[in-house]
Amino acid sequence: MSAMPDPAEAFSATYAEARGKFLAAATARGYGLESHVHPTARGAAGEPLALDVATGGRPGAKRLLVITSGTHGVEGHCGSGCQVGLLRDDAFATAVDAAGVAVAMVHAVNPYGFSHLRRTNEDNVDLNRNFRAFATPPEPNAEYAEVHRLLVPETWPPPRENEAHIAAYIASRGPAAFQRAVSSGQCEFADGLFYGGSGPAWSNTVLRGVLRSRGATRESVALVDVHTGLGPCGLGEKIYLGRDDAAAVGRTRSYFGADVTSYYDGSSTSAPLTGVIFEAALDACPAAEFTGIGLEFGTLDLPSVLDALRADQWLANRAGADDAQRAAIRRTMRDAFYVDRPDWKAMVWGQARVAALQAVKGLGR
Ligand SMILES: [Zn+2]
Repeated sequence: MSAMPDPAEAFSATYAEARGKFLAAATARGYGLESHVHPTARGAAGEPLALDVATGGRPGAKRLLVITSGTHGVEGHCGSGCQVGLLRDDAFATAVDAAGVAVAMVHAVNPYGFSHLRRTNEDNVDLNRNFRAFATPPEPNAEYAEVHRLLVPETWPPPRENEAHIAAYIASRGPAAFQRAVSSGQCEFADGLFYGGSGPAWSNTVLRGVLRSRGATRESVALVDVHTGLGPCGLGEKIYLGRDDAAAVGRTRSYFGADVTSYYDGSSTSAPLTGVIFEAALDACPAAEFTGIGLEFGTLDLPSVLDALRADQWLANRAGADDAQRAAIRRTMRDAFYVDRPDWKAMVWGQARVAALQAVKGLGR
């Protein structure tokens, strides 16, 4: 009897290590590779940054599975580990062959944030709020405007009165209203949290091109976009991706199970969002039936994750922080979005593998 491969070995400590493992695993599996190198930005250690695409399965298939990692930068520690695990997994390759589907794995949609341990990109943009139609000006987000100064105070750690203001807001409006105000997405405060940007980000444009070239002629496209930071530690929540459409939610549950949640009906830990990645797939592949989930793995409790994001934004807005505080905040960000423990990685890998196999089976029937 052969030993089970250690799932933790597919995960990496840095973006550069993750990229190396991904390229090696894709090559070993015989997948085709295409790299889109960022034209200007560099990594935390000066390394090049790229959005890499590995393509395999049946090339001319009518059905395509897309698995994306690192849409939220630092969250790529998790998604990259899942992709590397799947590329190394003979059972997944066998299932892909049996179903006759094509597979595209998009590694590090936001490579800058992955390398620099930020959730946002090189322009402080939350990519998963950036997939919007910028031709029409975005609606102002009055709820965010009200909490912006509270969220990103002048000093860090925040003064006691700041924490008291936030506690009072949550006490009077409720935690769900606070989460919605903070995280739904805003386009007015470039120095704020969950900023959707003022135009399509580099990653947005590149991803749309990848989806168009790989997916536009398919009959069906499925997407698993791997995230971290919400929900109980190690639990993968399958969050419906798509417009508010009961038939599409039903089809997504037929692929991934009745436990697919939706922020349209309040069943998700996520607040309702704007400018989400599925818009790119709908635009790039208008003729395809689209079925997608955000696979969201819990890490720390929500207040700890939010505090990490607040500290990170405070740091990004100021050049003057000392090296020790800078390093501490970077470390806090990594810990908030990547639980560097074998048990967490094993839980993540098991659930990601199930979701990927469900997607293959859903597409293939
Ligand atoms: Zn995310």
